[in-house]
Amino acid sequence: MAEVVLKDVVKNYGSIYAVNNVSFMVADGEFVALVGPSGCGKTTTLNLIAGLIPMSGGDIHIGDRLVNDLDPKDRDIAMVFQNYALYPNKTVFSNLAFPLQMRKLAKSDIDTKVQAAAKVLDITHLLERKPRELSGGQQQRVALGRALVRDPRAFLMDEPLSNLDAKLRVQMRSELKRFHQDLNATVVYVTHDQLEAVTMADKMVVMSGGLLQQYDTPANVFANPVNTFVASFVGSPAMSLIPLEVVSKGTEAALTSPEGWELPLSSANVRKALSSSTSKVVLGARHSTLKLHKSAAPGAVPGKVYTVEPTGDITFAQVFINGAVVNISLDPSVAIAPDEQVWIAFDQDRMHLFDAATTMALKAV
Ligand code: ATP
Repeated sequence: MAEVVLKDVVKNYGSIYAVNNVSFMVADGEFVALVGPSGCGKTTTLNLIAGLIPMSGGDIHIGDRLVNDLDPKDRDIAMVFQNYALYPNKTVFSNLAFPLQMRKLAKSDIDTKVQAAAKVLDITHLLERKPRELSGGQQQRVALGRALVRDPRAFLMDEPLSNLDAKLRVQMRSELKRFHQDLNATVVYVTHDQLEAVTMADKMVVMSGGLLQQYDTPANVFANPVNTFVASFVGSPAMSLIPLEVVSKGTEAALTSPEGWELPLSSANVRKALSSSTSKVVLGARHSTLKLHKSAAPGAVPGKVYTVEPTGDITFAQVFINGAVVNISLDPSVAIAPDEQVWIAFDQDRMHLFDAATTMALKAV
């Protein structure tokens, strides 16, 4: 397999910048997910790597080759799409063999490669069937097999699981992960589902508006989102974001709300808050870091329960604090009701502070 490197890649359609100066490197054998909301530029980025559309600027290397001017067929990549595009009248064997026949390989070589791919994907028993005789998950495996027989330098996958039902998607997620691990394959994988990215990828590229917002391991993106967009996109339920004002008194500082409460900050958070470009900040907190109290408690701020959603193991509640909806997870034994007055305590070591003007994460200086 090979590494894939994008440097200052641009694709514009007139004034629309579908991909705007994007750079990242996928190391040999790495699984990188491109994630972001609809229209953020993920598919365009993948199509640029594949060579399906011309670039407006920048460079793409696959392995040691600059591929800017190479046709898709000369890039040695294999694509797997959302619709598997299997040939309906060919058997699974013929579907897998077809790309090799096009390359004029000897029949015995084709046979060996098809059998090897079928073994990896556990579809040997399906080789004589037609695609319509397969389940969605089996069709997906055949589509992967067809990519695999080509022995590509990288796999490019565009939402390959989105046609499957929820249960099968979870199962195929594990299978794809295993496929990647077993083959040590270089994979660039497009999805709008951040959970797919977090669970499968070594690294994720979070995109918005054609721009790369953050490129890091899922764990780092989750723990240290660079801005409010990434904070609210990665994680489920989303990180809660509460716009507040900073007031400082000497070396101390607190967040204040027009609702009349103050939340004193730890010294590390004071340094972050005071590095904001204005006195306005956004407080971010993940549901699992919050504690709910039924009465006023030190370090807790008042809120009003909006909804309560029991899911079995965990109950999720939404609480209004300073006009913002805050998600919190609770033990199912905690009894609360909509419209109840509660107090929410923040974990100073795990809260996030963002500059309200720039949306960027604040650092302790
Ligand atoms: P989705 O998840 O909906 O597929 P995406 O993140 O893959 O979205 P892209 O398909 O890459 O987004 O599109 C990025 C932006 O470029 C969008 O605003 C889209 O409207 C625009 N765009 C894509 N192709 C063209 C085109 N041929 N002409 C004009 N604009 C285009």
